[in-house]
Amino acid sequence: MWDVESTLNILNVLDELLSAGTDRRIHYMISKGGSEALLTALVNTGRSFTPNYTILLPLLHLLAKVGHRDRRIGMKAEEAGAVLLTLNLLKQNINHARRAAACLWVIQVLSSSVSTANLIGENQGLDVIYCLIPQYTTKHLHTIKYVYLGFVQDNVCSVVSKGYISGLVRLYEDWHSKDTQHVALSICYALLLCLHKVTHSTAGRQAFISQGGLRVLYQTTQTCMLSKALESLVKPSVQLMRKCLPKTPLPLTSDQSAYTFPLPGRPHTVPDIDVTPGIVAESSDESDEEAENNKETDYDEDLETDLNQLRIRPDPDRPKDLLPQYSRLCPELLHDFQVSSTNHAAVFDDLEVRSGWQSTQLSDYISDTVLKHLQCLQNLYRLLERHGACIPHHEPKLYRTAAAKTISIPGFNILAFPDFWGHLPPPGHEPMVPRKPNIQRYNKVFEDVQRFLNTDDIINQVVFDLEDESLQSPSNSLRFFSKFECGNLRKAIQVRSYEYDLILNADVNCSQHTQWFYFEVSNMVADVPYRFNVINCEKTNSQFNYGMQPVLYSVKEALEGRPHWVRSGTEVCYFRNHFCPARGRKRTTFYTLTFTITFKHNEDVCYLAYHYPYTYSALKAHLKVLQKSVDPAKVFFRQQILCSTLAGNSCPVVTITACPASRAWKDIHQLRNRPCIVLTGRVHPGESNASWVMKGTLEFLCSQDLVAQGLREAFVFKLIPMLNPDGVINGMNRCDLNSEDLNRQWSKPHPVLSPTIYHTKGFLYYLNSIGRTPQVFCDYHGHSRKKNVFLYGCSVKETLWQSGSAVDTVRLREDPGYRTIPKTLDRIAPAFSFNSCNYLVEKSRSATARVVVWREMGVLRSYTMESTFNGCDQGIYKGLQTGTRELQEMGVKFCQSLLSVTKDTLYSRRLINHIDLDHNILDHKSHNCFEDDEPPCVEEIEYSTDCPALKGTDLDSDVNSSIGQSQQPSMKSCLFPRLIKQASIKTLGEKRNTCNGLSIANGEITS
Ligand SMILES: [Zn+2]
Repeated sequence: MWDVESTLNILNVLDELLSAGTDRRIHYMISKGGSEALLTALVNTGRSFTPNYTILLPLLHLLAKVGHRDRRIGMKAEEAGAVLLTLNLLKQNINHARRAAACLWVIQVLSSSVSTANLIGENQGLDVIYCLIPQYTTKHLHTIKYVYLGFVQDNVCSVVSKGYISGLVRLYEDWHSKDTQHVALSICYALLLCLHKVTHSTAGRQAFISQGGLRVLYQTTQTCMLSKALESLVKPSVQLMRKCLPKTPLPLTSDQSAYTFPLPGRPHTVPDIDVTPGIVAESSDESDEEAENNKETDYDEDLETDLNQLRIRPDPDRPKDLLPQYSRLCPELLHDFQVSSTNHAAVFDDLEVRSGWQSTQLSDYISDTVLKHLQCLQNLYRLLERHGACIPHHEPKLYRTAAAKTISIPGFNILAFPDFWGHLPPPGHEPMVPRKPNIQRYNKVFEDVQRFLNTDDIINQVVFDLEDESLQSPSNSLRFFSKFECGNLRKAIQVRSYEYDLILNADVNCSQHTQWFYFEVSNMVADVPYRFNVINCEKTNSQFNYGMQPVLYSVKEALEGRPHWVRSGTEVCYFRNHFCPARGRKRTTFYTLTFTITFKHNEDVCYLAYHYPYTYSALKAHLKVLQKSVDPAKVFFRQQILCSTLAGNSCPVVTITACPASRAWKDIHQLRNRPCIVLTGRVHPGESNASWVMKGTLEFLCSQDLVAQGLREAFVFKLIPMLNPDGVINGMNRCDLNSEDLNRQWSKPHPVLSPTIYHTKGFLYYLNSIGRTPQVFCDYHGHSRKKNVFLYGCSVKETLWQSGSAVDTVRLREDPGYRTIPKTLDRIAPAFSFNSCNYLVEKSRSATARVVVWREMGVLRSYTMESTFNGCDQGIYKGLQTGTRELQEMGVKFCQSLLSVTKDTLYSRRLINHIDLDHNILDHKSHNCFEDDEPPCVEEIEYSTDCPALKGTDLDSDVNSSIGQSQQPSMKSCLFPRLIKQASIKTLGEKRNTCNGLSIANGEITS
């Protein structure tokens, strides 16, 4: 038989013990069968015809506290028969606030298990709880809060079918309007959580909207935003509204790219995946996003763990007799240097002029908007004379010639002005933009919700459509244009007077991969903030949430002598939106990139881009300028064609080295024995930063700088600056015309469908076969989610070590030379971060350039160099966005770091002294490279659909504390009669090691 007093004492001691320590004590108790013991005690006491509430209340209280930390509490309660018992106790005490509250705590805790929640639902639990929900009152607030929290767990369907949603919405409205003193904040909050739960299902969301839930929340949120006291309600309200906005298909006839390209050997149909026409994606299961995130971060799963796999040297992917064709790409070996090298120019560029446009009139290839702006062509010529020559390594006329030969799928015949005119980095640095607190939630998402509720100011008019050239934009709207190289705006919709939704074109032959953008905008009014929303972004997060801005180029500014791409835009946010694909690719969610631009000039013509554009034509023109700039007697510079792309563009390969000092055998021999360095870039067309880094590399290698001279004498450089010309030209982000990611094709590249990769690999095989395996290989990329510049390399040891492999890595011998270059870069390159580098070989990366060149060609120093789109969080550039100056500098620094791998160390050490070593840059911040490196965003990104969960500590503080002084004494002291409490404290004092005095191991509490 239970002795009331001693039981109370035990409960009290337990409570004291568990309240004093950390969660560890509770977990210890759970591991020793504590939950079971409490449940048994509950059943024993509660089963009685006249239950003893003096014991039951503290028992329920403890059970709530412990059960909240026990993941299996639902199952245990079912086994003990405690679920329905608690529900019955609740039914018996509907009019007894304190007892009802205690039962509700426990029910809330127990229903964390789906089956327990269902059990409660099946036994009219919901109806009991719903009966308990009162209209606004100032009494028993605590109980009421738990009524809400206990209301729904997984009984969503019955909540909807019984029409409770409407009731909940009305209750929220009622509480919100009457609670003018803000004493019932926790009730309002609990009601919102409740609504969050019931809107997890499509039916729930539909009921919520049809019951006017959106409007109620919209109105109440407006009040909340005005009051500091109500701030905590804004977040759940806005999230709830955003979640319930009906999914809206993108206003497109097809998700497929507006551009298609017939692939050789394939029927002219568009390849795509998972298209179920007519079915609009449901958002109830949005777990794919998390899966995607895990894919990116879960290194351990993805690491190569097999030593043999890591060391494997697969057979060449083609017969040996296919390799000699690449001997032509080593002109420095074939050249006898007998004739004067001035002939280079004659053999330069065997590109034939293809179809396209070959106009000589400027008016034919400058867009109408720019021409109108210039008033007359003579002005352009005059300004070109004056400013056109001010940009180093850029000649507008050469650009025009190069562009004339560029083959695009839509047949572009207009040049974007910035590409033609040229870009100079603006003077000074551009800091990352700190974000105003709550800008995303309070302004952007809220404004988006407004579109559905307050349609007075909504225009919703298409003002630009890539596929409808007859479309005339209204005179009072902005004018858009994107039919030029790298341009990719597909549609622009004027939403409000000064707000536009923009839809980007998907990669050619594809319906995905939107991120990169580049377009022209004109007909603006100065000093008015225009809001732009790119509504079909696909990445789950973006540096736009961390201080990054898009770039803008103003024609007016350029003509006045300031031809700069500048970081521009305020209120930049990136968040999940309510759009879905036009034709129902399941599970796809889109993200909005929003930014506001206030144009400086009326009637300007401006260009906006994701990042500093760098076109294929720019590369061709640049190579021509470089060719002309070198002294052919000293510098051996040769541009050749690696191969032709699918669309028929040439993929250039450049050889740079020093001409031999003399024609003596010794000097020729030295040249022929120089190790090779192979550098590639821009396999991903959206990563224009890679091209700017490459530009820096190319210019440096052609320069008269002493270090550059030394490098040319030490190495033969083979550069393939743009591995994906077709992707770049057609404004694509990730793929080539084959709709494949070319940097996943290196294992077995297709000779016809992935020609640039096939031939680059063939050329590397060839170098291998003649004993000239590159000493260094590096593929230049851009990274959209990290800051700084860093390298990915390959190391067997680090991979095994990181994967927790059983192989004894201590005895494993590995040349640590793969670290030399990153270490040097860390010293000399301000944007570089050694701590962000890693050398892991992931299975998912096994077909990338870095891994294949390392594994199949045996290149120890095989890298991917990732440059941020944003800026740096360490070193002298900390807090600044990178510009083209810094990107080009990185290209220079990479070359300089190669001195550290020259054989002649004395010589290189002498040269390293020439490198400007700024001591400030040694201030590299250390941080773990394996974690997702984003600092916590000032504001949580709005893409979670989950309601904020109730934490264990919240429950404790609720259980332990009272609601307010005006009410009864604290709940806890109510539960434990004062007398007994004092007695137990005394007991506790006497027995220091009280735990030993209690046995809870067998599911029973005894003393
Ligand atoms: Zn890339």
